[in-house]
Amino acid sequence: MIILGIETSCDETAVGIVADGTTLISNVIEKQTDIHSEYGGIIPELASRQHMKNISNAVKKSLINSKLDWSDIDMLGVTDGPGLAGSLIVGVNFANGLSSSLGIPLVGVNHLEGHVFASWIDNENINEISFPIMCLIVSGGHTDLVKMNGYNDYELLGRTRDDAAGEAFDKAARVLGLGFPGGPEIEKVAAKSNEEFLFPKAYMKGTDDFSFSGMKTALKNLADKELNNLYEDFKLDNFEFTVNKIANSFQNSMVEVLAKKTIDISIREKCKGIILSGGVAANTILRDVLKDSSPLPVFIPPKILCTDNGAMIASCTFFKIREKISKSLFLEPIPNKSW
Ligand code: AMP
Ligand code: MG
Repeated sequence: MIILGIETSCDETAVGIVADGTTLISNVIEKQTDIHSEYGGIIPELASRQHMKNISNAVKKSLINSKLDWSDIDMLGVTDGPGLAGSLIVGVNFANGLSSSLGIPLVGVNHLEGHVFASWIDNENINEISFPIMCLIVSGGHTDLVKMNGYNDYELLGRTRDDAAGEAFDKAARVLGLGFPGGPEIEKVAAKSNEEFLFPKAYMKGTDDFSFSGMKTALKNLADKELNNLYEDFKLDNFEFTVNKIANSFQNSMVEVLAKKTIDISIREKCKGIILSGGVAANTILRDVLKDSSPLPVFIPPKILCTDNGAMIASCTFFKIREKISKSLFLEPIPNKSW
């Protein structure tokens, strides 16, 4: 079954085509980084306007890349939430239009569930493990720890009580004067340092939740204490060295908390494996630490399938159809859709 998936929940206009939920055929992602980086964060109004400009071409490009035409597409899937209302509306309405004009059934997909299914794409090993699987979804808008007991059977165990992990990286980068999105920028400069400041790690003992605001405040205090004088005194080499060291300390604390909590809770819950996904899963240190320290098998999609994409939505659509847990409807966006 060939499925075309559309994703516009935030600032990527993305369209993917996947066969049988597992074989990637095409993956078009139109980013809006240049537009939002000027503001250091995503401006919802600009995001939805840009989706409107991009969506038609992204769908066309996806078909051209796949060398397929509409008669080959069996099913459509679209992210209907959670996400920015104005962004979701563009993808959902476009998908409704395609479905009604072409007569192809359409399924609404939870964006976070989509992130989980990125691990089923071009990855035969995933079929070797059985449920339950622990899923850590770390993105710009979410940090959710979800126990997957089966297809369409999710238990939300923990989530962030304040910033999402990606949001914390973005804000940390802004304090350090680095670019947007902040995660890759922090990773880049942290790689130049192997020194660390003493930095807090919020384990939130006794709960499965996360909290990143303390680490963010620690970074701000450290930047105020260590950087301001260097800048005023034009000690620019020292300034760069210190920025790199602060970034390295922050990244290591974030990674340690995310990896250790996920592994401990997975063992407690007798999980058979761990899935890591979402934009922050593109972080090399997080990928390596989780894989190296977990006694359970760890599945992490390639970086291009960790950040928002349409292929993961197409894959998730397949499994919803296969498990007969979806029917095609005229969809409406659900910005606060939950598990
Ligand atoms: P998403 O919301 O899934 O599109 O992911 C976007 C978020 O992932 C942003 O907050 C980015 O800063 C973050 N991100 C992307 N790449 C990295 C990275 N290499 N390290 C840490 N965070 C990252
Ligand atoms: Mg996402």
